Amino acid sequence: MVIQVQDLMKRYGDVVAVDGLSFEVERGEMFGLLGPNGAGKTTTIRVIMDIIRPDEGRVMVLGQPPGQAKAQVGYLPEERGLYRNLKVLDTLVYLAELKGVPRPTARERAMHLLERVELEEWASRKVKDLSRGMQQRLQFVASLVHDPEILFLDEPFQGLDPVNVERIKDLMAELHREGKTIVLSTHQMNLVEALCDRILLIDEGQVVLYGPLAEIKRQYAPHAVRVRAPHIPLDLPGVVGVEPDDGAFNLALAEGARPQEVLRALLDRRVEIQAFEVAPVPLEDIFVAAVSGEEAGGRRQEEGEDGLA
Ligand code: ADP
Repeated sequence: MVIQVQDLMKRYGDVVAVDGLSFEVERGEMFGLLGPNGAGKTTTIRVIMDIIRPDEGRVMVLGQPPGQAKAQVGYLPEERGLYRNLKVLDTLVYLAELKGVPRPTARERAMHLLERVELEEWASRKVKDLSRGMQQRLQFVASLVHDPEILFLDEPFQGLDPVNVERIKDLMAELHREGKTIVLSTHQMNLVEALCDRILLIDEGQVVLYGPLAEIKRQYAPHAVRVRAPHIPLDLPGVVGVEPDDGAFNLALAEGARPQEVLRALLDRRVEIQAFEVAPVPLEDIFVAAVSGEEAGGRRQEEGEDGLA
């Protein structure tokens, strides 16, 4: 465990920003910290970063109180700002020195990071001369310059074009492979699905969903199945739509319909099935359902009822 949060409570006047939150982040994982606006994500991160003090509860970072682990934690906040008139390399060296890194090491590491995000040729230019995408890459490596073990990334893809999203994703995957622990907070659920091992979804400062992404997804009944076959009858029970897709068919399921019933119906009709796959519920749908308090459109299923196994 690199982060332990226990019964965390934080109020701002009458507003309860974080309401008895408990979770843990494991070493080396890519952890998704999710929730709608105002859920308490930033407050939680700020407590872990020792920027603010909690009212109640216990937080440990690498086995120490947050204030003592600062050098091992990096933070890319949602609200970003760099000194526009400072040179690119000097910016990174300055930030590293603030975290206690000696200047020669800071320079070396800063150059290495600039190379990793293809900014080495801009090292002696001023920040304000960089394009927006370049500034965001610089922001990203600024959170890494002291070589932290744990990295908090708050909306790291905000406002990035697709090329820069890929660059940052690649860099995150590389850091993950190196064994860094990454806590990712974003509203882009497709990226959470692509990147995260486990997630914590909070709302109104409380836990809504917490655990391995794959396990959470299994708790939700699928909305669709994908079938590879020469043809699909259009009047299958439990199927409300059939869309050809790349040599196969996507079958939208009626509410409450189960994939195994569709499979049985296809077999009964002697359809030559080459492949049958249950399409997982998009995390986006789970998020919306969990936060709006609905049962995933009435679809969160009972334990043991899922899948074809
Ligand atoms: P998130 O990051 O999930 O959007 P925040 O942690 O920023 O959520 O905010 C949680 C709640 O606390 C919100 O209702 C927000 O308005 C409130 N809040 C956050 N920071 C402050 C502050 N400095 N003063 C007063 N209220 C705050």
